[in-house]
Amino acid sequence: MTDSNYSQPAGVVTGEGYQTLVAAGKAGGYALPAVNVTTSSTLNAVMEAAALAKSDVIVQLSNGGAQYYAGKGIQDAFQAKVLGAVAAAEHVHLLAEHYGVCVVMHTDHADRKLIPWVEALLDQGERYFEKTGRPLYSSHMLDLSAEDIDFNLSECERLLKRMSKIGMSLEIELGVTGGEEDGVGVDVDSADNSKLYTQPEDVLRAYKLLSPIGHFSVAASFGNVHGVYKPGNVKLRPEILKDSQALVQKEEGTGSNPLNLVFHGGSGSEKSKISEAVSYGVFKMNIDTDTQFAYSKPVGAFVNEHAKAFQYQIDPDDGTPYKKQYDPRAWTRKAEEGIVQRLQEAYTDLGSMGQSIAKS
Ligand SMILES: [Zn+2]
Repeated sequence: MTDSNYSQPAGVVTGEGYQTLVAAGKAGGYALPAVNVTTSSTLNAVMEAAALAKSDVIVQLSNGGAQYYAGKGIQDAFQAKVLGAVAAAEHVHLLAEHYGVCVVMHTDHADRKLIPWVEALLDQGERYFEKTGRPLYSSHMLDLSAEDIDFNLSECERLLKRMSKIGMSLEIELGVTGGEEDGVGVDVDSADNSKLYTQPEDVLRAYKLLSPIGHFSVAASFGNVHGVYKPGNVKLRPEILKDSQALVQKEEGTGSNPLNLVFHGGSGSEKSKISEAVSYGVFKMNIDTDTQFAYSKPVGAFVNEHAKAFQYQIDPDDGTPYKKQYDPRAWTRKAEEGIVQRLQEAYTDLGSMGQSIAKS
């Protein structure tokens, strides 16, 4: 099942382990889902889904997801965004190996105002590295695509220098992904259309600057959009990814598919465009909207089916106790099963079913 050249111990992968996982996906022609999580319940469901699919997985937290993980009761929102991200990572470092798969810990979009969040997480990551010899997170994302490209790249350079010292990778964004993710993003209808498609020349510039410093990946826009909308607004053009790879290969004299590409806004995408994008070196596809719905839908069905249990502890007419139905584990478990199921579909779409590199 597994090419032994790529095998890694089960658990969180960082540094060379992470780079091996990315290389394995590109060599094997498959990608991994990167799933946004907000609670221990969604997080465990994602690891369970990976174990069932015998595949590896990328877990990511947005700034809002991290804040929610810490709890809405913490008054200082910035502090909660840092603490929640640390708590989620510690949770995964403790549990991942028991699911028998490799797990990548990642943070999602950080725009200009969130650079201090990433820096605070790097403070935590460096401390964790001193204690354990590995970073808390495998990678962070810096999304400065709304800024001038000079500023975007110089900040990426500055942070990657710091991150590569502790074996971390950086995900950057060139070109704008339409829609929004936790307050980061642009409106599809008002965005400058050319910005929705990354320019291969910009990708080449990023490659020249960043590849001598450390490991990085590029979220390139090819008409992809966050969220699920009626089709027709923007056309998916994965050939932009192919053109970027070809330009870097030609100018830098590399092997094929030198770039590690990331597909944002995977929810609701056409299956044929997904496999086309993967063939051009996409190793990670973000999925959030579809797994949110997959988590919530079975809860709706459960509440409808057991409506009285959500109004009475004991049936007012016949005295039936409803503890078994209103116990939060009963309906949260349905939600978790929804994610587990939806991700099996994602693994099939991405070609990564049964492809875990974890040593058994
Ligand atoms: Zn995104």
